[in-house]
Amino acid sequence: MPLAYIGLGSNLQQPLQQIQQALNELAELPDTQLSGVSHFYRSRAIGPEQPDFINAAAQLNTELSPIVLLDELQKIEQAHQRKREMHWGPRTLDLDLLLYDQQQIDLPRLNVPHPLLTKRAFVLLPLLDLDKNLALPNGKKLQDYLAQCQDQKIERLTTETVSRTYP
Ligand code: ATP
Ligand code: CA
Ligand code: CA
Repeated sequence: MPLAYIGLGSNLQQPLQQIQQALNELAELPDTQLSGVSHFYRSRAIGPEQPDFINAAAQLNTELSPIVLLDELQKIEQAHQRKREMHWGPRTLDLDLLLYDQQQIDLPRLNVPHPLLTKRAFVLLPLLDLDKNLALPNGKKLQDYLAQCQDQKIERLTTETVSRTYP
């Protein structure tokens, strides 16, 4: 069954709960199993001034095609009252399809691997939690991109922090 990796992010309206809820919703997608969840991370937002983000990644075993999976991710974002106001603005929930097997997809609505994943510590770290040997379709290892993200401030939440904030 194909293996897909989803990036989750939130910085509005109780971000931890948004992410936890979204993970439950991913687990309930048709023809899909949630097969892994990364640690949670807190990072400074890119783009306009706004609250810090909470980020995580999920691994799915899924029979859904990439485009159908994108449709499902966007439905979940909508259900979380995601509004598209400004580019890289604050949001209740962002779900990105980061990787889908070793496929390279270039469609108007969908680019996989996600074009910015190699430049973002908040994407690379959770992906490496799920599989420290993960590589792109071009064979390059995600681990090798981390060195170029050293200047990005990011904090891994402890399980205590997560459970204290989200009982
Ligand atoms: P970034 O792409 O830099 O992470 P973003 O997540 O803020 O930015 P959005 O406003 O959430 O961007 O999405 C803009 C569009 O990106 C979506 O309408 C979607 O069709 C398209 N898109 C292209 N590739 C992907 C992908 N791999 N995952 C999710 N959306 C994608
Ligand atoms: Ca994004
Ligand atoms: Ca997005």
